[in-house]
Amino acid sequence: MFARFARSAQAGSNFVEIGIADFHSSKTHLITEKGTSSSSKNSRNQRANQRRLLKNNSLLGSFDNLSMREPQVRFGRSGIHAWGVFADEDLTAGDLVLEYRGQLIGNQVCEQREKIYEEARIGSDYMFRIDENQVCDATRLGCMARYINASCEPNCYTQIIRLKGVKKIVIYAKTNISKGDELCYDYKFPLEPKEHLRLKCYCGAASCRGWMNWV
Ligand SMILES: [Zn+2]
Repeated sequence: MFARFARSAQAGSNFVEIGIADFHSSKTHLITEKGTSSSSKNSRNQRANQRRLLKNNSLLGSFDNLSMREPQVRFGRSGIHAWGVFADEDLTAGDLVLEYRGQLIGNQVCEQREKIYEEARIGSDYMFRIDENQVCDATRLGCMARYINASCEPNCYTQIIRLKGVKKIVIYAKTNISKGDELCYDYKFPLEPKEHLRLKCYCGAASCRGWMNWV
């Protein structure tokens, strides 16, 4: 089976057409002033507000570069597993965090690469399924988003959006996130009935399923 360990987006929300209708919906309320005397906080708030404004502008189709709206994050030793990604500024639920970038491949190439990666013991879990035909492979041509660890009680979630006709994987804040917090989302690897073929989850959450697969 191809893409045994391809990550996938939230069930029931895995495709969002970004358009004018979204502009009038929920996210606009996120443009708020926090009000603080600290200048660093002010500049951070300004950046955050700018990001939200840009996000809303992008919904009108004037932007195609998601990276312009990504907040500050940093790479570091993870409290979950190996290396991870941390917020370098406070984030509000609904904020765009990162785009999961990589190389877009079809199922046939995905199947071939999965074998190559397994034989080379690289691991093939940097694949992210976009839809039934396309997978984003961040193994070799990736970005920092691929290092975000999995959790069963995550502070982020993923969504497939379409920006100017191109499908993109976007990671959003699910909760308010403080500067320094490790970012995580549910990988939702495909259902795997055979226990020995599942990937173990190390998130340590009270509700941990024990596996990064759907079970
Ligand atoms: Zn877990």
